[in-house]
Amino acid sequence: MPIQLARLAAHAVRRGHPWVYREGIVRPPQGLAAGTVVDVVDEEGRPLGRGLWDPASPITVRVFSGDEPLDIAGLTKRITLAFARRDGWFDEATTNAYRLCNGEGDRVPGLVIDRYDTVAVAKLDTEAWRPHLAAVARGLGRALGARGVKTLAIRLDTPAADGRKIETIFGAPPPDRLVVREHGMAMEVDLAHGQKTGAFLDQRENRARVRALAKGRARALNLFSYAGGFSIAAALGGAGHVTSVDIASGAHASAQRSFRENGLDPSSHAFATADAFAFLEQAKKRGEKFDLVVSDPPSFAPSEKARPRAEAAYRKLHAAVAGVLAEGATFCASSCSSHIKMEDFVALLDDATLGRGDLCVRELHGQPADHPTSSAWWEGRYLKMVVLS
Ligand code: SAH
Repeated sequence: MPIQLARLAAHAVRRGHPWVYREGIVRPPQGLAAGTVVDVVDEEGRPLGRGLWDPASPITVRVFSGDEPLDIAGLTKRITLAFARRDGWFDEATTNAYRLCNGEGDRVPGLVIDRYDTVAVAKLDTEAWRPHLAAVARGLGRALGARGVKTLAIRLDTPAADGRKIETIFGAPPPDRLVVREHGMAMEVDLAHGQKTGAFLDQRENRARVRALAKGRARALNLFSYAGGFSIAAALGGAGHVTSVDIASGAHASAQRSFRENGLDPSSHAFATADAFAFLEQAKKRGEKFDLVVSDPPSFAPSEKARPRAEAAYRKLHAAVAGVLAEGATFCASSCSSHIKMEDFVALLDDATLGRGDLCVRELHGQPADHPTSSAWWEGRYLKMVVLS
């Protein structure tokens, strides 16, 4: 039985949007198991495509493009096409960590695969993939091997009994931590306990940009520093002293190991375990100023409903940063909330918010080529970094 979509839902799928919300289905069938392949049609019964069913998710069908069937061979082929999309896009000698499959954005809705040197880590955004995973994984061995990947693991939503959030699918069990390279910069990745699949690969090109912008800067500040990627980039780029601020107590130990991996002495820099807002207030009181500031907070707006509050939080953060910028400083403000689009985010950096009228918007950056989206899937274009000076 095909799944019939209401008019607006059908229109979205026709444009290439892969998500069908439950409300968009005319008569949602009962009792279909997660992972069932369904045909979706419009109200006139015209075919729109095929998708995987997830009864537990508000995104009840994820629609795949193309005419190939959604059997194991068809799913595997779509994933290997995503791998091939990266071929030749990275200098493997200097960059060995990148996203191999960006789910919806690679026309493989619900499945993300990140590469960390010889280890690939998969992450499922829907239970619809679960029943197909083992068979699909078997078919990926050769394509992964050809690209230097020997182990495929999966990220667990809830940690196992030993506290680790990773499980091996094939190959040698991955180490808890490994060191990868991006543009020649070494970065420790915590595969077992880290966020996302271990690291925030989406900021790679922006870290490289910060590295270039750090030249000749005496004091740099990295807010929401996590494993210190932007901090190391700034230090390698020539910043004299870098302060990393993160509220998570474990974050800095990893950052400090990565400093050493790059031949940098972490004791020449500062690491504050603190709330970024509180840190900025204290820094202002002390009269501290910075020549380069990076701000990369967690998503303040996980939903459309959270947007007004999130906008207020971004404004508060940006105003506080403006209060510690030295004369001629550069401010790299980032946001990973898809509900706040680029132009709206730029508006959260206006003169009234910053309380000063001397900063110009110099550069607008988004996410890198290994995090593709489709035109209609605007939710995938979440990352922004605005450079002001
Ligand atoms: N810039 C990082 C990713 C940042 S992730 C990179 O390039 O890899 C967001 C980080 O913000 C997390 O490490 C989290 O611990 C931290 N965080 C969340 N709320 C915070 C707060 N109020 N103050 C400081 N850090 C915070």
